[in-house]
Amino acid sequence: MGSIKLEKVTKSFGDVEVIPPLDLTIHDGEFTVFVGPSGCGKSTLLRLIAGLEDITSGQISIDGNDATNVPPAKRGLAMVFQSYALYPHMSVRKNIAFPLRMAKMDQAEIDRRVDGAASVLNLADYIDRRPGQLSGGQRQRVAIGRAIVREPSAFLFDEPLSNLDAALRVGMRLEISELHKRLETTMIYVTHDQVEAMTMADKIVVLRAGHIEQVGSPLELYHTPRNAFVAGFIGSPK
Ligand code: ADP
Ligand code: MG
Repeated sequence: MGSIKLEKVTKSFGDVEVIPPLDLTIHDGEFTVFVGPSGCGKSTLLRLIAGLEDITSGQISIDGNDATNVPPAKRGLAMVFQSYALYPHMSVRKNIAFPLRMAKMDQAEIDRRVDGAASVLNLADYIDRRPGQLSGGQRQRVAIGRAIVREPSAFLFDEPLSNLDAALRVGMRLEISELHKRLETTMIYVTHDQVEAMTMADKIVVLRAGHIEQVGSPLELYHTPRNAFVAGFIGSPK
């Protein structure tokens, strides 16, 4: 569970086509990073996969089934927003439980999942605090916890660390990589930071103006960038 396939997917806003026809396959369990300069379409692509935006044409399949017209909540994917999307008046426990309460899950199952996520993310000691009483890294873990409890077939991260300071970013990067190893769930991770891309990815998708310049492992892109744009972005010597 967790494979995602895009076939001839396009997206236009009004007359402007921001994603020209694009094909991409993400395999089950893969950690895929979308990288590219600001405005190249990373967030749009993630939102199309999540169903938060409708594609203009083409097809999106999830686990082999056409998901093009499936609403976001039924796609089995969880988007991790930046930590400032937490509810300030709710405890960590309530923040993490929120999507499950909305889905009217029974309380015993909610407690089981929240406790599981808190333990995986080392949040057990903070479970009754409010977001304002947490560090930036802890807040980001709560935002991830809210995705974990949904037991998604894939996690979609949109620059989750961009509002953390540099030292915290390094730690959170490692934590997300550890989480991926532990859960073995598909993750798509958007960043404009080449260090994040190189250190976290199984597969990197380099985007430029809505199209894919190159797809490959960090080593492939480093050693055999297809052109100067990819080389420049990946930081390889070519
Ligand atoms: P990135 O995440 O790589 O910085 P985005 O996906 O946010 O890029 O944006 C890609 C392009 O689509 C940009 O030119 C942006 O201005 C445009 N765009 C994104 N969302 C909208 C929208 N809702 N309406 C109009 N244009 C948009
Ligand atoms: Mg973006």
